[in-house]
Amino acid sequence: MLTADEMEGRGLGTEGKVLAKNYIAGCFREIGLQTFDGLDEYFQHFELRISLAIVKATNVVGYLEGSDPALRDEYIVIGAHYDHLGYRPVNGRVVYPGADDNASGTAMLIELARFFAKNPGMMGRSIIFIAFDAEESGLHGSEWFISGNRVVGTENVKLMFSLDMVGMLEANRGIDLRGISTLENGTQLAEKMASAQNLAIRRTTADLPVRTDTYPFGIAGIPSVHIFTGMESPYHSPEDTWDLLDYRGMARITLFMFSFVSRLSGLPELNPSRRFARLQHPWALRFNAGLLGQAGSTYHEYPDDFYRANNVFAFSSGIFFQMHLGYRLTFQQDAMFDYNGSRSPEGTFRRSSLIFPLNLHVNLASSRGIGRFYSITGGYFRHNLRGRDGAEELDFSTTHPGGEWGVNLGFGGEINRIQMATVWRRGITNIAATNGTRIVENGVYFSLGYIF
Ligand SMILES: [Zn+2]
Repeated sequence: MLTADEMEGRGLGTEGKVLAKNYIAGCFREIGLQTFDGLDEYFQHFELRISLAIVKATNVVGYLEGSDPALRDEYIVIGAHYDHLGYRPVNGRVVYPGADDNASGTAMLIELARFFAKNPGMMGRSIIFIAFDAEESGLHGSEWFISGNRVVGTENVKLMFSLDMVGMLEANRGIDLRGISTLENGTQLAEKMASAQNLAIRRTTADLPVRTDTYPFGIAGIPSVHIFTGMESPYHSPEDTWDLLDYRGMARITLFMFSFVSRLSGLPELNPSRRFARLQHPWALRFNAGLLGQAGSTYHEYPDDFYRANNVFAFSSGIFFQMHLGYRLTFQQDAMFDYNGSRSPEGTFRRSSLIFPLNLHVNLASSRGIGRFYSITGGYFRHNLRGRDGAEELDFSTTHPGGEWGVNLGFGGEINRIQMATVWRRGITNIAATNGTRIVENGVYFSLGYIF
């Protein structure tokens, strides 16, 4: 149904997506889900900006009230995004049916709602069923639900599941429960219940995948689990068609989810795991390492004279370590080989050295786990290896036994695993204390990094 041609790949702004949302709301109505006050029946409308255009989008959401009076004010959210990539106007029209991604999850969402509605005694907590819009363009629907215009308080949402690509069980020989370890004892319970139903769990993780709707919930501190049959799938291609789905597998996952969520909904407490709670803390420590390459130009400055030498090409390369303090501050320690110099009428100065910049990054803007933009301030220590001034070989072990010091300033940005920055380096210590003239290093580098 959701993959039919008239659904137009459920792309943003298409009539097909309107049909899809009405179809889902029709199912919710027939099942008898309750509606939230303040919404347009099951529809939660919102707007998002795609470059210059404002696009309207709609989540479809309803709930079933839990049977336990002590727990029914708490919610478990089961979500699945129903939007997809739409169509491309190639040779007429190429539709992306998005069967595995994510008609499969949407269908499973509807079936789970039906199961729970027929078995009202099977849930202690209340359960929210939500078909998210605008996932493919950046998780807008889930973001809006949990931190935009809230219909329930974030503190009342105890657990979240995203059913995203669940139609390829057999091809992938099991399911992934990504993020299940964000819930205290979640992994053990899931493994026990899955093995009782003979369902293979291929992978359980503690991370928050950034490409599905669990992410905005996880950022809000809510344990969040992505149910996923895997990348062995024709997803994001026009070949992602309904006839390739493993319907028997989907039925098995639906049954597992029904019993698992039912069990969880009745537990006296649903807590974030200790590890996950620690990461939510504003001063949580995280560590990274990566590779760094820099290219730029350097020259020598004569601070006491009206004179400066000319620029020459310089480069550095090496490794770096990062320590993140929450999401505001990052310390980055680099260890690099640096080749720089300066040119004057007397000749060209060249040297190779080891340089150890230590910088503080203050994040001016950040989107957790995706990217950040920051200012750079810090200092460096330089150990000279060898050098040459014109024809003369330099002996740094006599002129600079203690090495050199200097400062760094700059700006940088990171997106996913790529780091880019512009850094200005200026020496404080004298390069050569010859003739009583002070000479210091000065340079600007463009820096490119890869984070492991
Ligand atoms: Zn998806």
